[in-house]
Amino acid sequence: MPLDMSMRCLCILLLSLQTIHIVAQRNTMKLQLYNEQASDGSVGIYADNSEFYPISIQLNPETSHMDIDPTYSNPAVVPPRTEGYQIARLVGRAGKSWKFNYAFASFPGDVSTAHHDDSHIYQLPYATDQIFWISQGYQGVLSHQGENALDFDMPIGTPVHAARGGVVVDLVEHHDRSCSDESCNQFNNFLHILHDDGSFAAYAHLQKDGILVDLGEVVAAGDLIAYSGNTGWTTGPHLHFVVFITIVGRRETFQTQFDLRNGSSGLLREGSEY
Ligand SMILES: [Zn+2]
Repeated sequence: MPLDMSMRCLCILLLSLQTIHIVAQRNTMKLQLYNEQASDGSVGIYADNSEFYPISIQLNPETSHMDIDPTYSNPAVVPPRTEGYQIARLVGRAGKSWKFNYAFASFPGDVSTAHHDDSHIYQLPYATDQIFWISQGYQGVLSHQGENALDFDMPIGTPVHAARGGVVVDLVEHHDRSCSDESCNQFNNFLHILHDDGSFAAYAHLQKDGILVDLGEVVAAGDLIAYSGNTGWTTGPHLHFVVFITIVGRRETFQTQFDLRNGSSGLLREGSEY
């Protein structure tokens, strides 16, 4: 089919299906999809990922008189900071007028391999000479329903240390507002660290301009990374800490073992001090 003929048949609809709304995470990713026709007439669908973490893309193509090359996996995983990554190939059938459109959903991380190493022992995310209490624990009724997150009650400006090593992959630190309802979720300052098992840690409600590490930086457990604050959807100063992976369609959060600084390790409990 001549190029001008096939181009007239193209009908493309780009639609992000991502509607997951989560505390401590932007709900948009720096991701672009586009398509180009190759010299052999097939159509490649490509992605540019400007983020510092991999992005998984589930493509939902609708085609007429086209075949989808099965050698491309779906979901596709686009590496961090990568342009022109081909995620699919569509081949028009000879002698037919073909068309296609597609929707897609995108998820932070590599949904094909991400898991959580439950044997990993996390460090308490503050200096070794400090003690704080857990004002809200896993599945807490105030705002952690359905979420394995911890709230450490700590004053604004408390040094926050990495609970686990990894790569700094996302951060926001320009906000200076908070309130006790969801409308303030957009004002959350946060830091995300990607671990070597593909899970992420989120450190949330950080102080304005209180992040001490850069995107792409490798940090070790115990490194000073930020100062705590009271930004976003909060009822008072605290550090919200959650470990998660994304799987297609939802986010899974984890209860994690911590070094309790008394020679043992275990889960942290709401109302207890550590
Ligand atoms: Zn919380």
